[in-house]
Order: sequence, then structure tokens, then C-alpha cells
Amino acid sequence: MAVKVTENLWIGLSDGTRLAAGLVVVGVGVAPRVELAQAAGLRVDNGIVVDASLRTSAPDVYAVGDVARFPDARSGAPVRIEHFVVAERQGQAAARSLLGLGGAYRDAPFFWSQHYDVTLRYVGHAERWDRIDTRGSVGAGDFGAFFVQGGRVAAVVTVGRDLVALHAERAMEAGDDAALEALRQAP
Ligand SMILES: Cc1cc2nc3c(=O)[nH]c(=O)nc-3n(C[C@H](O)[C@H](O)[C@H](O)COP(=O)(O)OP(=O)(O)OC[C@H]3O[C@@H](n4cnc5c(N)ncnc54)[C@H](O)[C@@H]3O)c2cc1C
Repeated sequence: MAVKVTENLWIGLSDGTRLAAGLVVVGVGVAPRVELAQAAGLRVDNGIVVDASLRTSAPDVYAVGDVARFPDARSGAPVRIEHFVVAERQGQAAARSLLGLGGAYRDAPFFWSQHYDVTLRYVGHAERWDRIDTRGSVGAGDFGAFFVQGGRVAAVVTVGRDLVALHAERAMEAGDDAALEALRQAP
């Protein structure tokens, strides 16, 4: 959210510092509501901790979506991800488990978001990265940005390149680093 600050307004920081500003960008965060899970004795650690099948620490109790902290199939790291599509697909995966159809949740995290006339797609998950390699033109709204960590593509952001996002998603889910490398090196 961008806030236009009118004349003679100051931003007050918690340490008492006062800053003058012409434009302020506000990042509004959210927090998982885990009180009920905690009261029920489920394991909670930055979200309700689940295994690859989205099972909590209690038998027959599953958690999905923003509130769940699950092992990311690509990195193996426990993550909690706030994307619509992740919540939907995890719901489907949990339903499969409940029906005894099984299978771990292995989808690559994905979201899309629209900002006026710009629609961006993000696939994968990178909380930190060594570098970002950009292909195409950011100015022209036609690019793919590859977040590289430890020599591997951890996440890809695209604008105007939906097919690159889809190929990246498929490669991540297949664990196909060579295909991701080819996408990163393409013009
Ligand atoms: C401003 C904003 C913009 C976003 N934009 C995007 C975007 O562009 N793309 C994207 O992919 N994602 C976006 N997201 C994230 C997306 O909204 C979430 O990832 C998604 O809604 C998660 O679904 P969920 O079902 O896990 O949780 P929620 O949609 O939060 O649903 C949880 C529900 O549980 C209810 N609840 C909580 N505690 C209890 C309780 N004790 N008893 C009963 N009910 C309870 C809540 O009231 C809520 O209705 C955005 C989120 C926000 C806040």
C-alpha cells in the first residue's frame, strides 16, 4: 500500500526517531491464528507443524494453508507460505490423505497477483538468495527473474512470460534442475 504523506507530516518510529517523507510504502503483515491448535496440544512453531502429508502432531488432524508449516518438497526446509493456490492444493492433498488415496504434498509453491495492468507470477520459494538473474526487459513488462541460491534456482518471477512460469513449476516438481538451468539461460 502506498501512502501519500501530506505536508508537515512525520513518521514516528518506535525508537523515537522522526522522519519526514513524501511517500511511504506500508507493508501490512498477517499472523497465523494458532491459539486453538495450541490449546489442543498440537505442535506449533511459526504455524501448525505438519508432515509431508499435511498431518499435524495429533493423529487424524490435518492443517493446510496459511496456518500450516510444512516441509517444502524442493528444499526440504519447513516453510509456511501465504498463497491462495497453496491453500487450495493443500486442501486437495489433505482430502486425498483422508480418503486413503495418499501421496505427499509435493507441489511447487505458486501465486499470481495483479497490480493494475501488471500480472506477475511467482513459482518456488526463496526466503534468501545469492543473486537474481533477469532475462528479458523489466521496463517492457516482459521478463523472468530467477532467484538463485547455492547454484540452484529457488524461485522464478515472471511478467508476460506465463509459459516460463509453467515450465519452471513443472521442472521444480520433477526436481529437474537441468530444465530450470535451461530456462534461466534462455534469452
Ligand atoms: C491483503 C492480502 C492480499 C493477498 N493477495 C494474494 C495474492 O495476490 N495472491 C495469493 O496467492 N495470495 C494472496 N494473499 C494470501 C491469500 O489470501 C491466502 O494465502 C489464502 O487466503 C489462505 O487461505 P487459508 O484458507 O489458508 O486462510 P484464510 O483465507 O485466512 O481462511 C482462514 C479462515 O479461518 C477462520 N478462522 C481462524 N481461526 C478460527 C477459529 N478459531 N475458529 C473458526 N474459524 C477460524 C478465519 O476467520 C478465516 O475465515 C493475500 C492475502 C492478503 C491478506
